[in-house]
Amino acid sequence: MKLYSTNNHDLRMDFQSAVFNSMPEDKGLYMPVTIPVLDPEFIAHLDRYTLPEIAYEVAFALLGDDIPAADLKAIITDAINFEAPLHPLDEQTYVLELFHGPSLAFKDFGARLMSRIMAYFLKDGEQLLDVLVATSGDTGGAVALGFLGVANTRVTILYPKGKVSEIQELQLCSNGQNIRAIEIDGTFDDCQHLVKQAFADEELKSKRRLTSANSINIARLIPQTFYYFNALAQLFRKGKRSVVFAVPSGNFGNIAAGLLAYRMGLPVKQFIAATNANDTVPRFLETGVYETRASVQTYANAMDVGAPSNWVRIMAMFKEDRAAVKEMVKGYRYSDGETVQAINDIFKRFNYVACPHTAIAWLAVQEYQQQYPSADDSFVFLSTAHACKFPDIFSEELAAQITVPAQVEELKKKEKLATAMKVDFESFKTFLLAADRV
Ligand SMILES: *Cc1c(COP(=O)(O)O)cnc(C)c1O
Repeated sequence: MKLYSTNNHDLRMDFQSAVFNSMPEDKGLYMPVTIPVLDPEFIAHLDRYTLPEIAYEVAFALLGDDIPAADLKAIITDAINFEAPLHPLDEQTYVLELFHGPSLAFKDFGARLMSRIMAYFLKDGEQLLDVLVATSGDTGGAVALGFLGVANTRVTILYPKGKVSEIQELQLCSNGQNIRAIEIDGTFDDCQHLVKQAFADEELKSKRRLTSANSINIARLIPQTFYYFNALAQLFRKGKRSVVFAVPSGNFGNIAAGLLAYRMGLPVKQFIAATNANDTVPRFLETGVYETRASVQTYANAMDVGAPSNWVRIMAMFKEDRAAVKEMVKGYRYSDGETVQAINDIFKRFNYVACPHTAIAWLAVQEYQQQYPSADDSFVFLSTAHACKFPDIFSEELAAQITVPAQVEELKKKEKLATAMKVDFESFKTFLLAADRV
């Protein structure tokens, strides 16, 4: 797989370097030079394959000989070891549950595959890989659990004190081994800034092998295509063929992966980008003007992004053709009030408890169906996290209905292991330079 930068279409980077660099020096994003189209026979018979089998075919088509077939198969089997089931709400509407991985959010797909690919490329005796990540909640848990116990890697997670949920915090802080958490007395932006300072620091760069695990890494994007193919496989088994996907979107990595799957030949009628008040993309789709804004805080906080990084990837896939993007991607936005109302409506009508992000995608399906009624389509909205990760949002009545997975009960027995730190780069740097090995 050869990659170019969205800021320089002449650049050529190999897959391994793109994984370790995360971002080109010109601050664009890596994209595949050619997007392979899968064999139509394979697509037509997706229903014959399991999720890991589909994942292997898709990854192999993209990566080519970057990882030998047998090794790739082993990596995929190890990384994609949980389900992504379609749960029917009615004859036409399905929730694609992406929260059955270890951190109970869809980011497990990206983080688990990325960690294993990095470990695979690290040769014995090479310098320890220091993975730095700032999190507002879900990324940290997925990255921590993705890298836990992975040889030759060490993860440092920065999170804002008092601004992540109890379960999110325990997922970050209770691991030990090669995972370290730092509780920053500041905001998510402060955490992100400290990480950026580390990447720019000459002494750190010479003494540590730093890499980033953020969501723009190409190795996180690829595995997110798998569950779109697998959703079609499940629909085919029900005799359904025409699908509309609604994706709760923040940084737009998830929907970018869906569009990549579409470019690889997956038959999709329509994508819907559903956002909270951070509506840069829906505004762009309405007005044609792309204007980023400072993010505002909402109940669906994993989508509080005012300048979605992955949007440039989507524009690149459509060759900057705004009309073509508008055809394929519809955009809708919802307030916190509408989100809470939707959570209650979904429960009343279907006896199903959705997390706030998921509820926003359901609202978008309702709005789209009113605008474009069709009896032949199936509507699949993506559930990006388990409701138990956001306990403060729900009324007591609904909270009582949430089935808390066994792994969360285990988590609650664990001890929090975090280093408290002020927003101070020198302290962070001293921490990173302190111990050589885990
Ligand atoms: C990260 C996240 C999102 C947003 O996904 P993007 O790929 O950034 O658009 C939505 N919901 C949840 C629960 C998340 O953790």
